[in-house]
Amino acid sequence: MNDGQREQLKVAISTRIDEIREEIASLEESTRPVAPDVSIGRLTRMDAIVNKSVSEAGLQSARANLIQLQRALETADDPDFGECEECLKPIATGRLLAMPETTLCVACAAAAENDG
Ligand SMILES: [Zn+2]
Repeated sequence: MNDGQREQLKVAISTRIDEIREEIASLEESTRPVAPDVSIGRLTRMDAIVNKSVSEAGLQSARANLIQLQRALETADDPDFGECEECLKPIATGRLLAMPETTLCVACAAAAENDG
């Protein structure tokens, strides 16, 4: 990876972090406790409870994703950043741009998926 690609990647990671922060903020809105007998437009209370648990799951994964992205941004200047932690080959820059939190190359990620 050259310096230009590294800079591009850091910008991409920062953008993703901003997006995820917004997503977390809006999910936090929808995971507020559901008040009893509250009228929520056409939604029933049961719908609201179901939506809330879906939002909670989304919130958890968004928070985990945020931590991964922040770690990626912190380590982006390390010489070995962008190396596959499995086979130690460089991960394709396109893949890193698309999912900066990845620590596996395409081949190893596919192998890991087949395993599990
Ligand atoms: Zn690999």
